[in-house]
Amino acid sequence: MTIVACASAEQRGSFVDIAGIDPAVVAEVERETSELLSALIRIDTSNPPGDETRVAEFMAAWFAERGVTGGQIVGEPEDRRSFVLRLESGKPGPSLLLLAHEDVVPANAPDWQVPPFSGLIKDGYVWGRGAVDIKNLVAAHAVAAARIAQAGGPAAGTLVYACTADEEEGSVGGARWLVNNRPDLIKTDYVINEGGGHFLERAGRRVYILESGEKGTAQFRLIIKGEAGHASVPLRSGNAVVAAARVIDALASHELPLVIDGSSEELVQSLVDSPALRERLRDPRTARAALHDLARRDVLLADMIEPLYGFAFSPTIITSNSVAVNVFPTRVELSVDCRMIAGHDEQEVLTEVRTALDGVEADWDLEWVGPVTRGNFSPYPTPLSEAIRDTLERFVPEAQLANSHSVGFTDSNWFRAAYPDVIAYNFAPHLVETYEEVTPRYHNVDERILIRDLAFQSLFAEAVARKVLA
Ligand SMILES: [Zn+2]
Repeated sequence: MTIVACASAEQRGSFVDIAGIDPAVVAEVERETSELLSALIRIDTSNPPGDETRVAEFMAAWFAERGVTGGQIVGEPEDRRSFVLRLESGKPGPSLLLLAHEDVVPANAPDWQVPPFSGLIKDGYVWGRGAVDIKNLVAAHAVAAARIAQAGGPAAGTLVYACTADEEEGSVGGARWLVNNRPDLIKTDYVINEGGGHFLERAGRRVYILESGEKGTAQFRLIIKGEAGHASVPLRSGNAVVAAARVIDALASHELPLVIDGSSEELVQSLVDSPALRERLRDPRTARAALHDLARRDVLLADMIEPLYGFAFSPTIITSNSVAVNVFPTRVELSVDCRMIAGHDEQEVLTEVRTALDGVEADWDLEWVGPVTRGNFSPYPTPLSEAIRDTLERFVPEAQLANSHSVGFTDSNWFRAAYPDVIAYNFAPHLVETYEEVTPRYHNVDERILIRDLAFQSLFAEAVARKVLA
């Protein structure tokens, strides 16, 4: 592989070979995946309302045109359906699900360089909403599954392909519905899903992030009560706005417990270049100061590692029920974003809020905002992570794999929650463009994917599936 450091991405794309793959096959997979992704982007599945059944029907027809039948369009309600295809070998062996979601977040066309639902192919990219989140994977997994089916199916076990509705808003008709209602169709030993697979280059090393877990969400609101009155007469105590200021200060300055576990270990080991700093980052007594030092050297890396060290309180909204500037409010509401690391729960959040506000002069109550979602994770390493590692070593010989957890939410969470034995990883690897280049395009304007990277995602999924189902 040759990386030409100062060339533009599209120039680099044509220089980067996928080790061990016939260039004619790469070209064919580039053509198939880019045509399919372009067509999928043209089906506007902005969520809300989603209306994803059109993608499910499109994929059923796409497979049928290739002689691959037996897929099912399933889910509720009628306009929020998913497509699931099972390829059984008839021989005993593990089962692997290639998963991605059909819906996208909305796009505001005037802000874009190209119409966001055009699926335009230019400058070596496929452009449009869903190009990296995550119709790319709907297309890449489909081409991988079709190539395996056309070659006679998996050698052993079962390969399952699924594109599912409603990931971005809440899974009413998508993965959550399927795991609860159709385990016969969707339950497998292994799942590969969106998220992860981006690479960073540090100290001459290329490190791919595999996400084996996800953080949970426990957003809350503190209701701070006060005394009513005319503001021309200052309150000796009981001003809810002043009390809220004390609460914010106490939350922001509270030192939350540090958790240094396997979700950050390999990131620190392979991406932090200084051995002394690595050591300090692994020691709970020095880790907090070490994170500050890391942020000064490499803010992106610090931003990746710090959320894995525990939860954080981030106050974001404050409102009062005062109707005029001369009236003291009886109620001030403070909204706080809080993400829990996998394996921890909202009871711990409550305990830490109480500890932080112990002795603070304020009369407060806490209520949760929206659903509390617990994070979860799959074991690592496993035969699936080893298959991913082996495939990576074959295609990108100098690359390393590092385990991590996602700070966001993906459908993998539903699978781990419903089926405790499932191994679900988020891994959609890029070959040419880095983490820094790709991740800002999520939910943003000018979303696009390099065609070489799209084909790589397909060839990679195919190779991992063949290895797991050998
Ligand atoms: Zn997504």
